[in-house]
Amino acid sequence: MPCRKLYAIIIAVRMNTLKDKPARRTIGILPGWPANESGRPDRYLTSVFQGIQTMARIRGCNLLLAWGIGHGERPKEDIPAWPVLSRNTDFVPVGPWNTDGLIVFSPLLNQNRSDYLQGVMAEGHPVLFIATGENGPAILADNEDGIHLAVAHLVEHGHRKIAFIAGDPKDRGDGQHRLEAYLAAIKEFDLDPDPRLIAHGNHRTRESKIVTKQILASGVKFTALLGSDDNSAIGAMQALKEAGLRIPQDVAVMGFDDQPDAIAQVPPLASIHVPLSEIGKRALSTMLDFLEGDSPLKSVRVPTWVVTRQSCGCLPDTVIQAADSKPAQKSRPLGKPGTDDFKGKAILQLANSMMTALPSGSLLFNKNHTREICTQLVEAFYGSLESGIPTQFEITLMEFLQGVELTDNDSHSWQQVISVLRREMPHLPLNWKQEGIFQQAEDLLHQARVAISESARRRYHREQYQRSAESFLLSELIARLSTTLNAQRAIELLTEYLRQMDIHHARVALFEAEADDPVAWSVVIDPDPNAKRLRFSSRQFPPPGLYPPDLCLSLSILPLVFQNESIGYIAFDASHLEFSSAIARQLVATFKSARLYEEVVELSLTDALTGLQNRRYFDLTLKSEIDRSRRFMRGLSVIMIDIDHFKEYNDTFGHPAGDEALRLVADCLQRNRRKADIVTRIGGEEFALILPETNLNGALEVANRIRSLVETESKFKRQLTVCLGIAELNNPQDEPEILVQQADKALYEAKRTGRNRVSAYQEEERPI
Ligand code: GH3
Ligand code: MG
Ligand code: MG
Repeated sequence: MPCRKLYAIIIAVRMNTLKDKPARRTIGILPGWPANESGRPDRYLTSVFQGIQTMARIRGCNLLLAWGIGHGERPKEDIPAWPVLSRNTDFVPVGPWNTDGLIVFSPLLNQNRSDYLQGVMAEGHPVLFIATGENGPAILADNEDGIHLAVAHLVEHGHRKIAFIAGDPKDRGDGQHRLEAYLAAIKEFDLDPDPRLIAHGNHRTRESKIVTKQILASGVKFTALLGSDDNSAIGAMQALKEAGLRIPQDVAVMGFDDQPDAIAQVPPLASIHVPLSEIGKRALSTMLDFLEGDSPLKSVRVPTWVVTRQSCGCLPDTVIQAADSKPAQKSRPLGKPGTDDFKGKAILQLANSMMTALPSGSLLFNKNHTREICTQLVEAFYGSLESGIPTQFEITLMEFLQGVELTDNDSHSWQQVISVLRREMPHLPLNWKQEGIFQQAEDLLHQARVAISESARRRYHREQYQRSAESFLLSELIARLSTTLNAQRAIELLTEYLRQMDIHHARVALFEAEADDPVAWSVVIDPDPNAKRLRFSSRQFPPPGLYPPDLCLSLSILPLVFQNESIGYIAFDASHLEFSSAIARQLVATFKSARLYEEVVELSLTDALTGLQNRRYFDLTLKSEIDRSRRFMRGLSVIMIDIDHFKEYNDTFGHPAGDEALRLVADCLQRNRRKADIVTRIGGEEFALILPETNLNGALEVANRIRSLVETESKFKRQLTVCLGIAELNNPQDEPEILVQQADKALYEAKRTGRNRVSAYQEEERPI
């Protein structure tokens, strides 16, 4: 049967391809510091992580980011989320056991953490660092070159006394390298090495402002200030302004990192651009290439470059002119002038020069795509100059900028590309002797520069706008969570709001201990209260069934910490890293108040003497049980119980003995209780039972058993008996009070007819 054979072969081939298809890799991301508590988003982490996510989408791999959230009680300690349980880490389940490799952000600020990772590497688990300071392969921003460029630039402006706002003195990573690079540059340029010019602002705006004030107060003179990062520079600018100093006229300021906030300062902050998103992309592709066996895991240094803005004393135009004033390069042989081939080569050569002007970190997608874009720009420039109609260049420029904005790339560095185009345009085979052609070219280039600046500004505003809309939703969510006293409701609210914020997965899990492991198990709280309870070994996160199997995961996982106790974690889809810590903090507060509230409610519904539920509970429950029996057409009975001659017992043996007797009666009721029965003490020596799904006969049986149990109880000081009155819900429309009245009547009847008796309410109150 050749046909069947062929079919079998096809199946075999299919099975093989399925078998050979590698499982999707999972990479763990561990920042060595917790989410910022100051309320400012951690732009550094979010920008690098954005690059990691972009690459994860391209390469199809899962990401699990574990981020600590910091504890109010220990503000001095940086507590990240780490794969180990310890006093100064928050455990969330991301570690060697559920990842193929770890990308770890320095600084770790703690020897134990460094030692732990050395151990992980020694056991053969791949670890790649981001930033300097740890012993292992790392993706690094070129700190030394960046600081050198910044100092050189300030020197060009004539500054000799340059203050430096450094990072954390404990930081062995970027912070330390930037400080060392500053000291080296001071020496190289023979500048004033006064130690009073250096202060540590810990890369935080508020602290940098304070230390800048201290430098000013020390009386040491300086005309320029360099921040070890943008936060340092922004804090310093605030201090300088408050001291009445003008920027840049009195003190020129530069930052480092070129975060989006830099451009929004007054005046705009000059900075060293660190292509953060590119660093993220490189980190993940380096890790994945290694895992696929294509290349070793080795360090990569990503170049940094100066972005001049008004705060350093540059005006945008002078920058461009300075760049353009470099002499045109010598012509290269291109072929025969006037031919298409000649024109094509000239365009390609110019496009290549433009590309080299672009710092490698700002390449769009990849080299080929970037070359294509540069070529299109030159072609359009050429076409517009040849035809004398600017439209072609304008359209290409707009399309290109849209492309840059869509990919969230930084358009600023393309100013340098335009400068190269201006410098080298005489090489294009155009009739440069034609009148007005130079002016026309200048106009086109000016238009391009304005459009690029606009694009950079638009990007910032777009981000701000989006953020403010999301912040509104976030504050709404937090307000609603803070007034919620029910954990399940909190999860429902979370799911509802996060969906509006485009966060599609937020799963909350609480830890359950086993032996001496407090985080051994995770139990998911499902937004659907009827969903099956999902419980799994915490270190097997994510368990099958928690996420659709085809979903490419990108999760940020934060601990739920209350007063130093890690109670569980929340796993978000990591699209909005900046909001996750605020949500996690509020959620844990809601959980705790819900638990406290439940305890208070429990207390308010419990009788302290016997531990039975109290009168309030009886009233609440009877009402809901009557509703239920109405809905399901099931029977319901109530039994009222009163101890006989209890006053006498009390008077004879004293109040404490009376109390003990009450507890013993409660015990008899409990012993006799069936699962669904509700046993309450409703008053002094009166008890009541609610018996769901029980008709009169069933209730009679229960009541008689209780009567006889009490009668034969030997622990009383003397024999005690009880009377019991029963009422059955005959008319489902009856209100709870009617049923209680009927049971009371039956109880009275039992007392009246001699005590130690059971009586049931009937239309003509016949004792039984
Ligand atoms: P009857 O057979 O008619 O029910 O007589 P009785 O003595 O049980 O009824 P009565 O209502 O006259 O007395 C109830 C007594 O229950 C009064 C009080 O001394 C006693 N009692 C009520 N609450 C408590 C309590 O919390 N502890 C103690 N030890 N005694 C209580
Ligand atoms: Mg009584
Ligand atoms: Mg009594």
